[in-house]
Amino acid sequence: MGRNSLGLAGFLILAASCGGPPEREGPPVLVVGMDGLEWSVMDPLLRQGRLPAFAALIERGVAGSIRTTQPTFSPVLWTTMATGVGPLDHGIHNFFEASLKGQIVNPRNPLPYSSNCRKVPALWNLAAEEGMDSLSVAWWVSWPAEEVPRGRIVASYAAQAQGNLLWKAGVWTEGLPRLTWPPELEAEVLPHLKRGEPAGPLREEYNEAFGIVPGKEGWEFPAGRDAFFRFSFHGDRTHYAVMRDQLSREIADLNMVYFGLADVAGHFFWRYRQPEAYQYPVPPEHVDRLGDRIEKAYEILDGWLGGLLDEVGEDCMVMVVSDHGMHAANLKSPRHPQSGAHEDAPDGVLILAGPGVRKLGILAPRDRRMGSIFAVAPTILDWLGSGPPGYMEGEPLRRWMTDSWKDSNPETRGRDHRRGFRKATPPITPGEDASASFLDSMREIGYVDSED
Ligand SMILES: [Zn+2]
Repeated sequence: MGRNSLGLAGFLILAASCGGPPEREGPPVLVVGMDGLEWSVMDPLLRQGRLPAFAALIERGVAGSIRTTQPTFSPVLWTTMATGVGPLDHGIHNFFEASLKGQIVNPRNPLPYSSNCRKVPALWNLAAEEGMDSLSVAWWVSWPAEEVPRGRIVASYAAQAQGNLLWKAGVWTEGLPRLTWPPELEAEVLPHLKRGEPAGPLREEYNEAFGIVPGKEGWEFPAGRDAFFRFSFHGDRTHYAVMRDQLSREIADLNMVYFGLADVAGHFFWRYRQPEAYQYPVPPEHVDRLGDRIEKAYEILDGWLGGLLDEVGEDCMVMVVSDHGMHAANLKSPRHPQSGAHEDAPDGVLILAGPGVRKLGILAPRDRRMGSIFAVAPTILDWLGSGPPGYMEGEPLRRWMTDSWKDSNPETRGRDHRRGFRKATPPITPGEDASASFLDSMREIGYVDSED
């Protein structure tokens, strides 16, 4: 290397350290992932004025449905959305490590996928490669938190379960390794985790919203399902607080958060919402007490959405996206934990809003499909101004942008950052019994068959 190039490198380092990193022009992007949002639930709630934050967002943008793929396992779909490629390319095939054909590897002690298993860069890696900063809270398969330059990562929902922390948030203070990137971020997250403890203040918030299921006497509703729903509320509510706190400190170029509540509510409570769809009698007292739980979950999500939108303001590109819809399922078996499901891949919900998004409002039901989950990553990259790399399977949803936005934001192709990306490695767990407790939780919600 000659003197000149050394000099140039030195100058660049000096310039960067003096002037700070180059500021990206253009509005920030907020992506709110909401698992299992379903139009047949949302439509009447919107008409009744029960979802004011959704309604206001839709009014300044466009809302419709999004096509998804099978299998509709959360880790697979949310990784597809974060990478722009399908499972054969991103390498996440199930909840647990599985073969290309979906066979779980080592079924006696299956290991949940962790972020190191992913074969291609996710949006937060791509943002970093393009010199942008990012914030990601609770995205699926994001544990352990990756070392992302200029990134803030609070690792995933599944990581809580792996560490048995969805149930016992207090244990978290003893340390789930690599929960956050950078490691110092954990100090800002811990107070929220403390508040999320099972016996903490969120307990009251839950009781107020959903009521208390009576004890076993005369009440056949399995308490375990109520408990699991309660835990997912605590998890989501905690992630909402973490996300809002982080946004209030600094809005990144790319900001993304995941909530699972609508999906869990749909799985457990559909039979009480729509008892006539089932081929067995659903006890009327259960319908009275639990029939509105899905709707209440949506109202709570609406409140969180409103809080996040307050934080970012209107000069922000916003995408609300669900990985699939939901409907009545397992119509014959009153004992099946899930009475709502989505194995047949019903369309999810997609809402786009912000500077440059066409103000079309809610699309008519017969012509509602706006794109597929493969368009999620390309659209986000298009909004960020870097453009999707050619290997991604979908195209940016420019159809929903105004002509003047398209004129001033010409379509570009991003660079292929797969080369040089770290190699995928087998799943890791944070502790000895971690995969066993995760497996138990999957049995409880009916994703994995129990032995009995
Ligand atoms: Zn689901």
